[in-house]
Amino acid sequence: MRVFCFDLDDTLISECEYVESGLRAVGRRLDELSRARRGASGEWLVAEWRRARPRDLFQRRLAELGLDPGWLPRLVQEYRTHDPVIALREGARDVLAALSRRGDRLALVSDGHLEPQRRKWRALRLDVPFHPVIFTDERGRDHWKPHPWSFESVMRSAPDAKAFVYVADNERKDFVAPNRLGWLTVQLRHPENLRPCLEVGGDARPTLEVDRFGALLEIA
Ligand SMILES: [Mg+2]
Repeated sequence: MRVFCFDLDDTLISECEYVESGLRAVGRRLDELSRARRGASGEWLVAEWRRARPRDLFQRRLAELGLDPGWLPRLVQEYRTHDPVIALREGARDVLAALSRRGDRLALVSDGHLEPQRRKWRALRLDVPFHPVIFTDERGRDHWKPHPWSFESVMRSAPDAKAFVYVADNERKDFVAPNRLGWLTVQLRHPENLRPCLEVGGDARPTLEVDRFGALLEIA
């Protein structure tokens, strides 16, 4: 039995899809606060984000609608606590089911603010078992990757596993700790990832790179 442990953002799900889901939720709140046409703020936020990724997106929409800039913290809160409309990436569901069916175990290690991560996970409504599901933020910011705590926890949960595999996207932080712990690390490179794959060196490099979920079934 092997443990296939997955990252969430830009691995099992598209982070851009999550961002746009959040912007539409913020847009609905802005619709309530303004006299603009229903849906107008969501469309504006998504279009602006796609065009320029401005850091002051919410402030600019508030100004455009003539609303109090003091609404900003409420909009950020709305973004982080909205129930996202997201789906697994193409091909993921079949591969997870196939891994599980053949006797391998599935696990999750994900960074990010706790509340949004939990809501993303719930929104996926997966019907295959994951154990454990670890959000590093449960232990606080200093336990986010590349801290080894989450990976050591996965290892403790499956002492009889013959190998551990971590599937993720971000070379800056994802592979350092599992590499040191002797895991096989796999970078899933997707053309629509929010952050393009970087070339970094040394022990941050993944063992393997793949460009589709199906390739995970071929790892010997
Ligand atoms: Mg990621």
